[in-house]
Amino acid sequence: GPRLRIAPSPTGEPHVGTAYTALFNYLYAKKMGGSFILRIEDTDASRSTPEYEKNVLDALKWCGLEWSEGPDVGGPYGPYRQSDRKDLYRPYVDKLVEDGHAFYCFCTPERLERMRAGQRAEGRAPKYDGLCMHLKADEVKARIEAGEPHVVRMKIPEEGSCKFTDGVYGDVEIPWDAVDMQVILKADGMPTYHLANVVDDHLMNITHVARGEEWLASVPKHILLYRYFGWEPPQFFHLPLMKNPDKSKLSKRKNPTSISYYSAQGYLSEALMNFLGLFFIQIAEGEEMMDMNELIEKFDPDNLNKAGAVFDTQKLEWLNGRFIRERLSEDDFIMRVAEWAAENSRLKDGLKLSHSRVAKLGELPNLMGFLLASDMVPAPEAFAKIKKTSPEEILEILKAVQPVLEKLVEWNAETVEQALRQLADDMEKKLRIVVAPLFVAMSGSSRSLPLFDSMAVLGRAVVRQRLKTAEG
Ligand code: ATP
Ligand code: GLU
Repeated sequence: GPRLRIAPSPTGEPHVGTAYTALFNYLYAKKMGGSFILRIEDTDASRSTPEYEKNVLDALKWCGLEWSEGPDVGGPYGPYRQSDRKDLYRPYVDKLVEDGHAFYCFCTPERLERMRAGQRAEGRAPKYDGLCMHLKADEVKARIEAGEPHVVRMKIPEEGSCKFTDGVYGDVEIPWDAVDMQVILKADGMPTYHLANVVDDHLMNITHVARGEEWLASVPKHILLYRYFGWEPPQFFHLPLMKNPDKSKLSKRKNPTSISYYSAQGYLSEALMNFLGLFFIQIAEGEEMMDMNELIEKFDPDNLNKAGAVFDTQKLEWLNGRFIRERLSEDDFIMRVAEWAAENSRLKDGLKLSHSRVAKLGELPNLMGFLLASDMVPAPEAFAKIKKTSPEEILEILKAVQPVLEKLVEWNAETVEQALRQLADDMEKKLRIVVAPLFVAMSGSSRSLPLFDSMAVLGRAVVRQRLKTAEG
């Protein structure tokens, strides 16, 4: 049967866009009796981390999108993590060079920058000018032997256009002139996304590639690589990017985009999958609510929903409420609440933090309720009560915090504390002054559980949202 994959790059919080794309691939595989595979694309070593990889696996499992092959479960086409496949790509690059389809490029970043600036000044889109394509073989050899830094680029036809049929967009034609001589092997010896993606999809026998629309313009490069290697390209589906209700591209500055935000809020994964699945499926009004089996049944790649994908959180909330009321019995409900409280040991960590701070257990809901609450809208008086800090200064502090937290690679009480201490230093303020508004933004009150631990329990995405709410 067909083989489909989700190929996330572990470079940030698991994105709802990854769940959206994964769901399409999953539904397609299940509908057609095929396989759904997970591959980690971590060729960008400077941005990929093990924490992000674990998060994306956990998030996709939470969604109920189980894969039959992947870095955690293995499979016949492994390894399923590109950094573990590093040595395998080189011979493919060498073959392209030997066959005259690719060439060594010694251009320095400075030269490339100058070239691009010149092209921009002439109103042209920046594109490699082909300088190194004409180097003689013995010169190339000598420069490599002398240890000169270099990359490998693929050649692009000079005339004509690339034509293909996309499963969503239909017939697409992109002139070769609009395609850059893509770097396929970086100076550090790692392949780029484009090369690794094509080689892996071929070696893993992937038959259908469904991914975000932002890759549509890369298809000519990929098709060309398949052609150079003499391989059959897969069938492509480029899914419209999800948008904010104001039609701008979904962005975490406007709407939370992390899957873990939605699970922390207590959305049911069925409701999130239902919500995302409706972007693919044509249904009549009144038939909105579907569990995964119903989604599979209704999914039809020949009759996709072309309405576009607006991430309307009100609709998601409406579906979630209906799922709770109509699809969960009281016993199911109780079980799901217990599972939710146990997720990421939210309840347990909150209780540990509360242990030394209560005289009676009945104080717990007030003390630690903020760790479980979906929204936190602090009363204006709560900020006004902060001593020795003006409202302007409070706003200044709140606005300074998020950019600093965004840079954290690891998220835990220690890294959060370090970042905030550094910020206090940089702002030439006492730590006490910087954290006071944060207590209010996170918990709604100026006295609550230890701040750094609380922020660790809340997680990046919830902290981001609460800061945004507090800034007003
Ligand atoms: P932001 O702009 O909020 O920082 P991003 O565009 O940087 O988000 P990426 O980290 O580039 O997000 O993308 C992570 C994954 O999510 C990619 O696979 C990408 O295709 C997918 N993705 C990002 N935005 C969307 C979207 N609006 N709709 C569908 N998929 C998306
Ligand atoms: N690693 C790419 C991404 O995260 C995968 C794109 C593809 O599916 O080819 O968007």
